[in-house]
Amino acid sequence: MFVDMVPVTDVFTTNSYFYIDETTRHGFLIERLKQIIKDKNYVIEKILLTHGHFDHTGGVEVLARELSVSYYIHENGEKFLEDVHYNLSIHCNRRVVLNNAKYLKDGDTITLEANPNAKLQVIHTPGHTPDSVVFYDKNNGIAFVGDTIFKGSIGNSEYPGGNGQELRASIINKIFTLPPETVLYSGHSDKTTVGTEKARGVNIRR
Ligand SMILES: [Zn+2]
Repeated sequence: MFVDMVPVTDVFTTNSYFYIDETTRHGFLIERLKQIIKDKNYVIEKILLTHGHFDHTGGVEVLARELSVSYYIHENGEKFLEDVHYNLSIHCNRRVVLNNAKYLKDGDTITLEANPNAKLQVIHTPGHTPDSVVFYDKNNGIAFVGDTIFKGSIGNSEYPGGNGQELRASIINKIFTLPPETVLYSGHSDKTTVGTEKARGVNIRR
């Protein structure tokens, strides 16, 4: 494991920590998410899950309840939310189980109530998991890609429900067909762009 420190400065500087397994690049965000929301006066309308692995969903049930919002995942995600073997939490001595998700399907649009011009399109990108999605903001050229693709590599397809062929097809047919300047924000790397990753190809595994 390694610890990635993120100093957050307001009146004081306080650190957030990402606690990450270097092999799988999976980990936890410790402490600051709720405090950041409060400090920055963000109003969260919904919590969106790119897929059901526990390092992306742990804490979400509690956070959703505290913020009085719903959380959303692709309709294939039910098994991952309910089964500690599928969501991998059992391997880290945890039992992450979520019971109150709302479900999304390919082609859905999620619109911000406060500004209907802000919308995310749901693009189903199975492969890392069968419930993996990209949340794509066409107007701003932004895509949240979860663990499907990273800066310099592609997702792992060897966990339960993973499929390497599907993963490559999702990247080639659904991510690489977005405009090349689209910025990709992944679960475990720096941001990158469609053009950069397309030039690199889909053969480098992390
Ligand atoms: Zn994952």
